[in-house]
Amino acid sequence: MKRMIRITALCMLLLFVLLACRTENAEPVFEAQSTEAPTEAPTPAITPEPTPDEDMIVVTPTPTPEVTLQPAPTPEPTPEPTPAPTEIPVTDPVITLVGGEELTVEANFTFTDPGYFADDYLKKDLTSRVKVTGEVVPYLVGSYAITYSVTDDDGRSTTVVRHVEVVPVEMPEIVMPPEKTVYLTFDDGPCGYTAKLLDILKKYDAKATFFIVGEMGHAEMIKREFEEGHSIGVHCYTHEYKDIYKSEEAYFADFLKAQEIIKEQTGSYTRIFRFPGGSANTASRRNKGIMTRLTKIMEDMGYRYFDWNVTAGDSGKGYTEADVKKRVTGGMKTHTDFAIVLQHDIHYTSVHAVESILKWGKENGYTFLGLDLTSPYVHSTVQN
Ligand code: ZN
Repeated sequence: MKRMIRITALCMLLLFVLLACRTENAEPVFEAQSTEAPTEAPTPAITPEPTPDEDMIVVTPTPTPEVTLQPAPTPEPTPEPTPAPTEIPVTDPVITLVGGEELTVEANFTFTDPGYFADDYLKKDLTSRVKVTGEVVPYLVGSYAITYSVTDDDGRSTTVVRHVEVVPVEMPEIVMPPEKTVYLTFDDGPCGYTAKLLDILKKYDAKATFFIVGEMGHAEMIKREFEEGHSIGVHCYTHEYKDIYKSEEAYFADFLKAQEIIKEQTGSYTRIFRFPGGSANTASRRNKGIMTRLTKIMEDMGYRYFDWNVTAGDSGKGYTEADVKKRVTGGMKTHTDFAIVLQHDIHYTSVHAVESILKWGKENGYTFLGLDLTSPYVHSTVQN
């Protein structure tokens, strides 16, 4: 029995010890649960150092790196908009054509490129580096292409093309004059006889046309011709066929030289002219086809050439005033629609025949006018 009591007492003691141990083990759990809650709150209030021993190490280190990683990308986008230079997109150089890529110009003696400029993506001027190739023949109607190329410092290149269309100058409509209109024309002057001729024309209130030769001098006569209402046209500066018909350029140079004299005397250039020897001359045959080319080119450039349908036949020798009158008035009767009469004021006999021509013409209802761009014209059949 005593033994039984001892065993019982032992068992009870063991149970007590077990219970006591269990309570000891459970204690930290409660402690952990209970301390965690209260420590979190007081932590910020109390000095941070002593508290974050074991508990804070567990909680704090884990989220910290996460928080640190997130703000990292944020500061990067912020500095991006600040450096403006890196925003300029790198592009090929740009060539700008003044007047555009499609250009239409009227046929003329010269062509002047309206200009261009070039720069790179940093707006550095590259204009002086632009290489221009291609050609426009300004007096030949047609289509042309001019190519502009430029390369920047880094080797990027740009090429643009300008298309140039050379078109004919538009001419005014021809206005047919009344029947029996006569256009007296005088080539190769002015000269010492021109003043006399102008007096005769004035006396009969007749107008005429003078196709002047620049190298003849007497430029003041051109002024008087103009001021008295006559028409002034270019014949040439020098009457040397071999020189003026050597090439298109040679013809132009001579033509423009005569134009300058006309402008000096009249204040403006003229748009009417007569080819030395007429458009049907064969004196130009050394240069094959020159008249075929020039007759078109000059008209494309807005100049009208006049040949004739009546000639005074005053170039040679051995004719009289009566001969001149007979030929001219005969032609006037043949061409009653309009007569374009070829004479030369460098021939005394021919000049003196004008009075009798005008007298007869006035008596027979003819009108004597000067030529202009609206006048009817005669074009002979080109022989070269
Ligand atoms: Zn002539």
